[in-house]
Amino acid sequence: MTLKLPIYMDYHATTPVDPRVLDAMLPYFSEKFGNAASVTHVYGWEAQEAVEKSRSTIAASIGAESKEIIFTSGATESDNLALRGVMQASRARGNHLIVSSIEHRAVLDCARQLETEGFAVTFVPVDAGGKVDPEYVRRALTDQTVLISVMAANNEIGTIQPIRTIGQLARERGILFHTDASQAVGKMRLDVNDIPVDLLSLSGHKIYGPKGIGVLYVRRHRPRVKLTPLQFGGGHEQRLRSGTLPVPLIVGLAQAIQIADSEMETESARTATLRDRLMHAILGTLNGVRVNGTLTSRLPNNLNLAFEGVDGEGLLTAMKDVALSSGSACSSAEIEPSHVLKAIGLSDELASGSIRFGLGRWTTMEEVDFVAGRITEVVESQRRLRPRHPNGAPSTPVN
Ligand SMILES: *Cc1c(COP(=O)(O)O)cnc(C)c1O
Repeated sequence: MTLKLPIYMDYHATTPVDPRVLDAMLPYFSEKFGNAASVTHVYGWEAQEAVEKSRSTIAASIGAESKEIIFTSGATESDNLALRGVMQASRARGNHLIVSSIEHRAVLDCARQLETEGFAVTFVPVDAGGKVDPEYVRRALTDQTVLISVMAANNEIGTIQPIRTIGQLARERGILFHTDASQAVGKMRLDVNDIPVDLLSLSGHKIYGPKGIGVLYVRRHRPRVKLTPLQFGGGHEQRLRSGTLPVPLIVGLAQAIQIADSEMETESARTATLRDRLMHAILGTLNGVRVNGTLTSRLPNNLNLAFEGVDGEGLLTAMKDVALSSGSACSSAEIEPSHVLKAIGLSDELASGSIRFGLGRWTTMEEVDFVAGRITEVVESQRRLRPRHPNGAPSTPVN
């Protein structure tokens, strides 16, 4: 079998639209193009029916009610609506927000912005494995705390967070709990009746749905969450998110969630096997490699490795036939070591020498073997060019 190059192994960044999702969406671009808010004709009714059917599919997937599903443009907007919406609506109750230090920038930068607007924010650290310790969250609580936001699973190192424990802790004190589940949806069961979460963000393009669509789940009962909207207009989505609904994207998101749910067990097992194969192939061949983040509570499709004596960006530039991400992120045109890798204690140098592997629905064993081989070659050649490097201690076995 010939491999199609470049190989895509960056499924945490985005995923292709599944052909079954695209098929479901297509009619809603053309024949069924109505505005779901048009109540005077069949074009509008047809669109509204598609939206409400999709809404109930998405709600059922997380154990929510249809009315608790607010459509947004993606997880960035959902995170902003959750944080800003709650903090502004709860000013009378308190001004303190707690977030973890390994959140996606949609949460972190929103929290920093709220800080400049006079809110108090605590950034809770993580342990060396990349897990938020609920005890640290407990210690950060004040009588002003109104919201805690901790992601369900991390987008760089794949660590699954103890959201049940943190949610319980929040609930006991009457504090709201938000989780960004963009990476977790479709890979682990999430039920809002089971896990005490009051707000939950998800995104279409991380789960083989389209880009530009997301959801914010907002609990309506015990407690009823109050939010201040980010934008104003036609009063759509219970006045929380005005703007004409993108019907094709909504239909696609519902189809994507349905597929992800029905294939979750087999896909998780399959990608975990491939991920482990990739890890063992690389660790078994190269010295001076460590796994970033614990392996005991981790997304099945994630691997993140630190290569001693290697520049991750340079490595990826030299390896044009594989699409991967490094442990650096471009922020305002500067390359900075990842805040997540720094939070688990990596030096700037090791963080910059880290690579994230994201496996997905179309990853094959042949691709995994090819990537392991290419990584080994390129790391070895980079290390030869950097004679100061001692060539590394034996690779740490899995933790
Ligand atoms: C991708 C991602 C986001 C941003 O989602 P968009 O839909 O692209 O705005 C937020 N949080 C996490 C954890 C993500 O992985």
